[in-house]
Amino acid sequence: MRLFSSLIGQKRAKERIYHLLDNDLARTYLLTGPKGIGKRSMAMQMSRMLLCDNPSSEGACGVCGPCHYIEQGTHPDFICLYPESGDKSVKVATVRNRVISDLRMYPQISKRKVYLIDGDALGEEGQNALLKSLEEPPDFSYFILTVSEAERLQKTVLSRAVTVPLNRYTENEVVEILKASFDISSSDAALFARLSNGVPGVAIEMSKNNDLLEMKDELENILLRLDQTSDSEILTSDFSFFDANKSDIDQVLSLLMSFLGQFPSLMNPAHTEDLQSPYKTDMMKRMIKTTGLTPDRLMRASESVVLASKALALNCSFEPTIARMLMTLKKEFTNAQSS
Ligand SMILES: [Zn+2]
Repeated sequence: MRLFSSLIGQKRAKERIYHLLDNDLARTYLLTGPKGIGKRSMAMQMSRMLLCDNPSSEGACGVCGPCHYIEQGTHPDFICLYPESGDKSVKVATVRNRVISDLRMYPQISKRKVYLIDGDALGEEGQNALLKSLEEPPDFSYFILTVSEAERLQKTVLSRAVTVPLNRYTENEVVEILKASFDISSSDAALFARLSNGVPGVAIEMSKNNDLLEMKDELENILLRLDQTSDSEILTSDFSFFDANKSDIDQVLSLLMSFLGQFPSLMNPAHTEDLQSPYKTDMMKRMIKTTGLTPDRLMRASESVVLASKALALNCSFEPTIARMLMTLKKEFTNAQSS
């Protein structure tokens, strides 16, 4: 079982939460942060700590009765209100049945009761129903709400809660999280971490997304034979790949940047680290050799991608922007002597 202290990253939030819980400073907590940041995992650790018989600065003990029951999903004093599968919201009736009518009943196993509630799934009516419980909770009841943006909740609800924001993770932390949970190559973990913008849940979704992996393969195949492709092929068949993925162009350009970002370490003669499949590494090394790629040319290639990305963000026309970028890439990845 992963205890509070073993959650990767979020040092500040963890310290703050520990301080709040250890000193019993609030009855209602609100964890905020983008979808996939790990609010629910953190809320689970908080619930464990509140319900555990022997909590410490590491969090719940993991071995007492309450810890065991919460792990099994059978702890009677732990009430979790997340939408049932298939539903998008927590129904008002659920709030009434599982919170309001339960609130004053004494805990059965632990000294406290914890209500963990998905604030994103709580409509106006649900919040109104909950409010009274938040205003006058019995001594033993604690609430933990999770929400992507605090503004989604009514001011009256917010005023009852201590808010703890969860921040975006560093790329290295996302890599660590991916590698701890999945069988994933270092290069893919690094790629998804970069694309995830510091949100582990997004990186995890990407690692399971076959369309994305196929798109990456297809893109890399185009790039790995750039030096052998004619101008007309670039502007027809290669362009059509970009056109087909127009709606995901930000992701395509990020994948492209990530591909280019692997060259510097390969250009270093001391390179030993295996970034990816040996086949691709060999192909990239071949490209470096046959095209006489230099750091300057690599930089210009990367700049063309950044420029394209900026141009598209400013709503410049798609076709000429991508065509210009592809021609620059082709130029920089072609042997200077032979062109
Ligand atoms: Zn315990």
